[in-house]
Amino acid sequence: MKFSTELDDDKLHEECGVFGVFLNDPARDAASLAYYGLLSLQHRGQESAGIAAARDGTIECRKGMGLVGDVFNADTVAQLKGSAAVGHVRYSTAGGSCVENAQPFVSRFKLGSIAVAHNGTLTNADVVRELLEDAGIGFTSSSDSEVIVNLIAKNYKKGLEKALTDTIKFIKGSYALVVLTGDAMVAARDPNGIRPLCLGKVDGGWILASESCAIDAVDGEFVRDIEPGELILINKDGVLSFSFSEKTPRAVCSFEYVYFARPDSIIDKVDVYGSRIRAGEILGRESAVSADLVVGVPDSGVPAAIGYGRATGTLFGLGIVKSKYVGRTFIAPDQAVREKAVSVKHNVICREVRGKRVVIIDDSIVRGTTSRRLVSILRKAGAREVHIRVCSPPVRFPCYFGIDTPHRKDLISNENSVSELCKSLGADSLAFISVAGLLESLDANEENSYCLGCFTGEYPIPVSGEEERVRG
Ligand code: SF4
Repeated sequence: MKFSTELDDDKLHEECGVFGVFLNDPARDAASLAYYGLLSLQHRGQESAGIAAARDGTIECRKGMGLVGDVFNADTVAQLKGSAAVGHVRYSTAGGSCVENAQPFVSRFKLGSIAVAHNGTLTNADVVRELLEDAGIGFTSSSDSEVIVNLIAKNYKKGLEKALTDTIKFIKGSYALVVLTGDAMVAARDPNGIRPLCLGKVDGGWILASESCAIDAVDGEFVRDIEPGELILINKDGVLSFSFSEKTPRAVCSFEYVYFARPDSIIDKVDVYGSRIRAGEILGRESAVSADLVVGVPDSGVPAAIGYGRATGTLFGLGIVKSKYVGRTFIAPDQAVREKAVSVKHNVICREVRGKRVVIIDDSIVRGTTSRRLVSILRKAGAREVHIRVCSPPVRFPCYFGIDTPHRKDLISNENSVSELCKSLGADSLAFISVAGLLESLDANEENSYCLGCFTGEYPIPVSGEEERVRG
């Protein structure tokens, strides 16, 4: 019997979610808030989870493979004592799926201990790793995040602030970082702000999180996004902010809004749900087709289908149902069964689509396997026509900033024109939102600009080669 990840292979994958909590009262424990925060960030990574907590200058960490609820229970959370904690959920590429790469990473050294939770990918990780190895520093994992923790530890004798700013000036790429020390918590976001990170308040303390939905989950109050190139230091005296880089153009990952983030999150002042509705409206304006019904591919396609329906006057319905209980790992005895596996994850409500001209709205097409199967099961259920509309432009290029992308040859839009792809998927018509349309849905302007690298091949930071790396 084989374990397959095929059911989710047709999506790009977020790599990580980070969460931090700092309570002013040293008698309170922070780990349970971190646990709930991580539960609400579970969509950002399902392969491993971890929490580190600090008490009296000592950091204890527990981490393991699996979902947050698999790694932790009430007893294990209660064992993590201390009024400050950082947590992490991680998705990984196949080669990097091991507990050594689970986070937070903890480093214990003469002057103290630190724990680091990181979301992103460093574009110069190999160079930094080599320099550290030359200096006699050993590594236990292949993760970029351990590079960061070791670099901070190496500089720690200069004092925490200096160690962090020196580290941050040295590393390149995308990072949303939360660092826990014995008596403080620090956050940093890369100069382009590629990965999201925000600050919240909770009764008697502060929260840092990849997405605002995690602040809501612990009944906190959203304060603001961490700015690109900003470092935040939280300790018993409050919150201090520093800017560590020249102002560079903001390049927030546009895919966060298309697919990764939860619809109830607000990232850099743009609400994710609203941007998906707008993307559907724009798709309707750009590529309307005569139809009886529009349905969204759950989950992220649904708001866009509502928007498309509004813009075109097409009836919106729930024609496709997704099982919420199929995890990433799916036991498939053989290839033939795997080919049919779409009906395990997605099924069609036959009476809703029978005899109708149906438009399906999906957030993206990566390999094309899901779209092909959806067209097939919709036709089998009696749909008269099946039209596909996609609320992101064709994905043609890999991501180097923390998102697991298939090799370029496996990105179906890299190999095929839209009409070839339409034919290969068996659809009656196919259209993608334009790049300008996506930017419009995100309220882009000079201040609010986005990374579009996987659509256009133009990246906000220079990248070299397509080497495979285990990301944070
Ligand atoms: S390349 Fe694509 S997935 Fe990667 S950060 Fe840019 S927009 Fe996001």
